[in-house]
Amino acid sequence: MPVDIQLLARICEAPGAPGSEKKIRELVLAELTGLADEIRTDAMGNIVALKKGRSSAKKTMAAAHMDEIGFIVTHVDDKGFIRFNPVGGFDPKTLTSQRVIIHGRKDVHGVMGSKPVHIMSQEEKNKVPQIKDYFIDTGMAKKEIAKLVDVGDFVTRYSPLMEFGDCVNAKSLDNRASVFVLIETLRALKKSKTKPAYDFHAAFTVQEEVGLRGAQTSALQIQPDFSFGLDTTIAYDIPGSTPQERCTALGEGAAIKLMDSSVICDYRMIAFMKATAKRHKIKWQPEILSAGGTDTASLQRMVAGGSIAGAVSVPTRHIHQTIETCNKQDLADCVSLLTACVCDLDSHDWSF
Ligand SMILES: [Zn+2]
Repeated sequence: MPVDIQLLARICEAPGAPGSEKKIRELVLAELTGLADEIRTDAMGNIVALKKGRSSAKKTMAAAHMDEIGFIVTHVDDKGFIRFNPVGGFDPKTLTSQRVIIHGRKDVHGVMGSKPVHIMSQEEKNKVPQIKDYFIDTGMAKKEIAKLVDVGDFVTRYSPLMEFGDCVNAKSLDNRASVFVLIETLRALKKSKTKPAYDFHAAFTVQEEVGLRGAQTSALQIQPDFSFGLDTTIAYDIPGSTPQERCTALGEGAAIKLMDSSVICDYRMIAFMKATAKRHKIKWQPEILSAGGTDTASLQRMVAGGSIAGAVSVPTRHIHQTIETCNKQDLADCVSLLTACVCDLDSHDWSF
């Protein structure tokens, strides 16, 4: 399957800090037109698209979070420089001189400023930078910026998507890569002669980066029997990493999650996903993410009696930095795996 780079670029470039997902939500809603039997948005802003299955006896849910790590404006100083808090877990060292957009009354471009190396003391040079060391420079004086930006406005990274080698890089591939995978899965289901085994609820969730919040309300509403978390995961397949540290590697296929710090995937679901990948000749790799949680936890436990939960993860380099990187074939493999899993759920023996 060729990857629709234009669609992926639009998805990555749309802003959507946690709690401020309006623009990415509007884009996803527009893309879902004609792909589902029912589409609704809940009070928190999660989208759920329902694609009817061959049977309504059980419910399947997949969730991809739409939000991206960002910032919120906390103060504009007398010179017009902007201070902020992070919304989601940033690696401060990657912020130096990065471009950002402040979503004020109008979108305002800015750059993350910090103290130049020339005037740092030796002690400062040896220190790891902290978020509080940075400010946003908009090139505007206080009088002008005050007309456009208020305390409480959200800030997102500015990095248009670029194709390079077998890969793409952009801001927000965490988790727009999975938003793309879920939309493309609905598209594949529409084209396919095979319907999902059970009614399939495709959720695009909010506020994952601040604690899996949107997925909780979404799972509470849907109460799935089977669930799939969709998120990026660490690909630490880079110089200096040892084989035991790498978690996943780019180009090695869709990652089937075994566990992360928020969830132990159901062993029946893991066996089903591996067997499905094998049957459909889809490249896959196992994933154990030692630090970091995903919506999978909410899908498993925000259901009376729990759901049988697993996850399809997209291997990603440079995650939670200003530019993240995924492999195009891995994205295609994730779409194939999720599509096959959703259709084949009734072919498996789910007894313990
Ligand atoms: Zn994520």
